Amino acid sequence: MQRYFVAPEAFTDRQVTLAGDDARHIVRVMRMKEGDEVIVSDGAGREALAVLRRLAPDQVEAEVAEIRPVTGEPVWSVTIAQSLPKGDKMELVIQKGTEIGAVSFLPFESERMIVQYDAKKEGKRLERWRKIAKEAAEQAHRSMIPDVEPVCSWKQLIDRMSGYDAVLFCYERAGGSVTSGLRGLLAGLAFPGGAKPRLLIVVGPEGGFTEREAEEAEAAGARLVGLGPRILRTETAAMVALTCVMYESGEMGGS
Ligand code: SAM
Repeated sequence: MQRYFVAPEAFTDRQVTLAGDDARHIVRVMRMKEGDEVIVSDGAGREALAVLRRLAPDQVEAEVAEIRPVTGEPVWSVTIAQSLPKGDKMELVIQKGTEIGAVSFLPFESERMIVQYDAKKEGKRLERWRKIAKEAAEQAHRSMIPDVEPVCSWKQLIDRMSGYDAVLFCYERAGGSVTSGLRGLLAGLAFPGGAKPRLLIVVGPEGGFTEREAEEAEAAGARLVGLGPRILRTETAAMVALTCVMYESGEMGGS
């Protein structure tokens, strides 16, 4: 069943209004009719089964048939901090990270970044990244749309590390040893009861991290972790780390 994210103000307990691209998709692409059903979510944890009532190419009115329990959201809150990669790799990281279960993305600048960060293009690029997150969340049947933050500086990233229960700094020199491999680190994690654990996965650019960056991250509380003996592409590393964290948190079954 088709799923659409709508702004919270467009979604009351009785009625939902879908406009713009979503209305056009319902009417022109899916050619839905009155009485057809869709799933709507406000992207902030509220979800409902809705029945289409009035359909126009630019606006569709639907009646809320049933408020549904929120599903599709991970038990651990994982943010991916990705040093700006070349080309459209950031779009891949956002799309795949959303499917796997990341709750937000934090692009950042670092010393060995290859791409030249152009602040003038920030607005358009951020808008595109956020559209990719929304579409990936719809496809993955998530109840929330992961946030994509504006690009931050290395210093801003370091300052934010204290806000997480665990910071996993992906560092290929940490290799796959027992002490610094991701598996051993995850097995040893213990979180304060009650609140949803908040983790930050940090991945370097194509040129990798400098030793100084690794030292600064460690001093800020990050754990240097290896993802095995092979060198992963920057766009692969976050997916590997995120999948391991999802596995460890029980998203794929097991106790
Ligand atoms: N310095 C690498 C080299 O020697 O080719 C290049 C960096 S790698 C392409 C990009 C990023 O992916 C790294 O900065 C790191 O964050 C992550 N990464 C890749 N392989 C990794 C591994 N085996 N263990 C931990 N992190 C890894």
